[in-house]
Amino acid sequence: MTGGALGAALDLSDTIVAHATAPGRGALAVIRLSGPRAHAIARAALDRWPSVARAVTVCVVRDAAGARVDQAVVIRYDAPASFTGEDAVEIVTHGGLVVPTTVVAALVSRGARPAAPGEFTRRAVLNGKLDILQAEAAGDLVSANSRAAQQVALRQLDGGLSRRVLALRDQLIGLEALIAYDIDFPEEDDGPIAPTCIADAADTLVVALERLLATARAGELVREGALVVLAGAPNVGKSSLFNALLGQNRAIVTDIPGTTRDAIEAVIDTPTVPLRLVDTAGLRRAADPVERIGVEVSESYLSRAAVVLACADSPASVSALGAELRGKTCAPVILVRTKSDLCPAAPEELAAQQLHIAAVASVAASAETGDGLETLVAVTTRIVAGDALELGTDAPLLTHERHRYGVSRALEEVGEFRERWRQADVPAPVAAVHLREAVRALEDLVGAVDVEEILDEVFRRFCVGK
Ligand code: GDP
Repeated sequence: MTGGALGAALDLSDTIVAHATAPGRGALAVIRLSGPRAHAIARAALDRWPSVARAVTVCVVRDAAGARVDQAVVIRYDAPASFTGEDAVEIVTHGGLVVPTTVVAALVSRGARPAAPGEFTRRAVLNGKLDILQAEAAGDLVSANSRAAQQVALRQLDGGLSRRVLALRDQLIGLEALIAYDIDFPEEDDGPIAPTCIADAADTLVVALERLLATARAGELVREGALVVLAGAPNVGKSSLFNALLGQNRAIVTDIPGTTRDAIEAVIDTPTVPLRLVDTAGLRRAADPVERIGVEVSESYLSRAAVVLACADSPASVSALGAELRGKTCAPVILVRTKSDLCPAAPEELAAQQLHIAAVASVAASAETGDGLETLVAVTTRIVAGDALELGTDAPLLTHERHRYGVSRALEEVGEFRERWRQADVPAPVAAVHLREAVRALEDLVGAVDVEEILDEVFRRFCVGK
């Protein structure tokens, strides 16, 4: 079948094919084929068949008319030992636009169906090769735009978050078992399970769920990055600082959509939090010279900033600017005395500034010599991430709204159970319904239950061939 409606397109009896690499000029391209007829279809298009699974074989690929379309490296996978858990074939062709497309066409002409976005990973989930959290992580890894996001996705792919969620689910089931025991012995005042024991177990679960939920902030930071805005009068050295910070760090420079005339943004790719540094230097061109004597940055950036770098090139002006910004932003302000090579900072100077305007930190930096730049990045990262970083770099993080929703649902239900148990205002089996709901919320997260709807949601964001 050729697919069409989404439901029909996701038929598992189909053999699916897709480019696994992005189209365009490149040395190589990878084409994936998976499904019950993957071996037969590939075999019909190849001049020889790999005799050993998971070993590479060089084969000629021919189209339906028998014309050569490429000489490719072919790897055969036998179910269930493949990414999807099905019989599969990977064909590494020459790159470019024509060759991979004609190889895909050769496979389609022999009965394969072009895959829907995310369909390979979806099959991997349905065949128990990955859970939903891991599948999401595979998508996150592909779209990671910072080293921090890459590391978090890798840990999630490795099952870190799944293990944490399943451990909490097991604890919940343990608590359900205690209650079941209690229900079985309702008349025994001194039964084997003291009511406080159940209340304590519920307390422990609430704390553990709260702790996991608290990682959502760190997860969001890693995914979105933190907006760091350079503010200050013209000529204090903001643009130079921007360039120097990027020059010293791995940086990904992007235009902010719709605002390229006003500002440029670049991501400082720190290992913990991507810092989205914004230089609003372009604003000065549009602004009335008389009005731009103060803070050269738009209110919209100040209101959205996670941190503002208040830049000025003399000790007196840096204090004044810090005070001025305090009235314009809720974000923490770091005082940055620029051009420190021209006038090195005395420690008392910086300490006095900090006390004077209650700024969170002061750094003297020079774009010219590089002094202070590393400190500035470290201080900014610490201020932006705060407690979130103290979770440790190995802790699993909640990175999607779906995760936050699932864990907060479980937390609410356990909280409700705890309240009913304390009040003893409903029979134990009624209170225990909340625990069942909490278990279900966590199982929805990892996909341990019927998950078609969740799968649709998760794979909507995937690319074809993944
Ligand atoms: P902006 O208008 O705030 O973006 O300032 P610029 O980055 O354009 O810098 C204004 C002037 O100060 C330029 O002539 C720079 O060369 C100079 N400048 C910037 N940073 C430094 C620095 O760290 N040391 C020295 N000595 N000069 C600097």
